[in-house]
Amino acid sequence: MNIHEYQAKAVLQSFGLPISPGVPALTVEEAVKGAKELPGPLYVVKSQIHAGGRGKGKFKELPADAKGGVRLARSIEEVRANASEMLGNTLVTVQTGPAGKQVNRLYIEDGSDIEKEFYLSVLVDRETSRVAFVVSTEGGMDIEKVAHETPEKIVTFSVDPATGVMPHHGLAVAKALGLSGDLAKQAVSLTTKLYTAFVAKDMALLEINPLIVTKGGELKCLDAKMGFDSNALYRHPDIVALRDESEEDPKEIEASRYDLSYIALDGSIGCMVNGAGLAMATLDIIKLYGEEPANFLDVGGGASKEKVTAAFKIITADPQVKGILVNIFGGIMRCDVIAEGVIAAVQEVGLTIPLVVRLEGTNVELGKQIIRDSGLNVIAADDLDDAAQKIVKAVRGSH
Ligand code: ADP
Ligand code: MG
Repeated sequence: MNIHEYQAKAVLQSFGLPISPGVPALTVEEAVKGAKELPGPLYVVKSQIHAGGRGKGKFKELPADAKGGVRLARSIEEVRANASEMLGNTLVTVQTGPAGKQVNRLYIEDGSDIEKEFYLSVLVDRETSRVAFVVSTEGGMDIEKVAHETPEKIVTFSVDPATGVMPHHGLAVAKALGLSGDLAKQAVSLTTKLYTAFVAKDMALLEINPLIVTKGGELKCLDAKMGFDSNALYRHPDIVALRDESEEDPKEIEASRYDLSYIALDGSIGCMVNGAGLAMATLDIIKLYGEEPANFLDVGGGASKEKVTAAFKIITADPQVKGILVNIFGGIMRCDVIAEGVIAAVQEVGLTIPLVVRLEGTNVELGKQIIRDSGLNVIAADDLDDAAQKIVKAVRGSH
């Protein structure tokens, strides 16, 4: 789960990290009121969407030479003008995809006098199974480009969980950023606090880009992207409360309510599978036969009839779906439960597209019997290969 920049900064502040004063705003009036609470005379009007690259982004509704999604303003009136130009419009950045995202919130922040911009992120490094820091002097820019063209400018190290963060980690950050004296001391304190926040809140990613040195000689987190491990969210009601559902795919929200692992994809074949490995194999075989999956969906090991019904509804609600493939290997999950769930769902939402069902494992005969007796127009398949070929053929027949 991701949160907005202004929310992430509030979390950082609660761990004592240096951020600028700022006020979130949903309307132009709130933006103006917020700006009046700030010291001035430089303000920054920042679009709050769950995507980066806002500064270089473009608004769909505005002329091509209009300013981007992060704008400097030198007076309250400029804050007002920028806020009214930005709110309600669609910002397209390298991370939003061509459709862009509507800007419904702004963050009005005190403007900083920037001396240097650095890159710093904290993440879970799967290779070392540790929390790792990624640091570069080349901040504010496209870090992927830096990684590709000048990888020597990126310094990475991980933290041993047995010791936790130590002063030498902070000194490594200072060294990588070329900081000495008081700035190096600030880097040590910043590193410790970032690590503490990351672990305490079960973050998956914390990216500060840019981390700046101000003209006054202070380190400050000027941007913050924060993602959380969704498996640990139950421990953090304060973070769950920050969720902005308007930034997420409604199908994924519905799926999370039923504890289904669902990820929307671009293709035409809806998939209902149990087990992440089998789900991946199902996506692969659909592609092998020349079609594209519409989603990844793992209903899990012990899914109930209600869960299966919910899953089926989520799949059929997607207008891109031209056919459905149910692929279940009943181990803990019983094939008869799946069959009942599918039938209950079809009776509730109707079935206007081809449905191929492949069942195998516990109670498979009972499951097949339930589907046969239902009188539904279901195409039965014997194995995964057969199922994939049948659904691809059925979908092709429909367009
Ligand atoms: P994004 O990464 O989505 O483009 P940022 O928050 O990093 O958004 O802002 C883009 C750029 O705008 C920063 O690299 C920085 O140069 C400038 N900027 C952002 N916030 C401020 C601020 N409070 N004061 C001065 N400049 C800022
Ligand atoms: Mg940034």
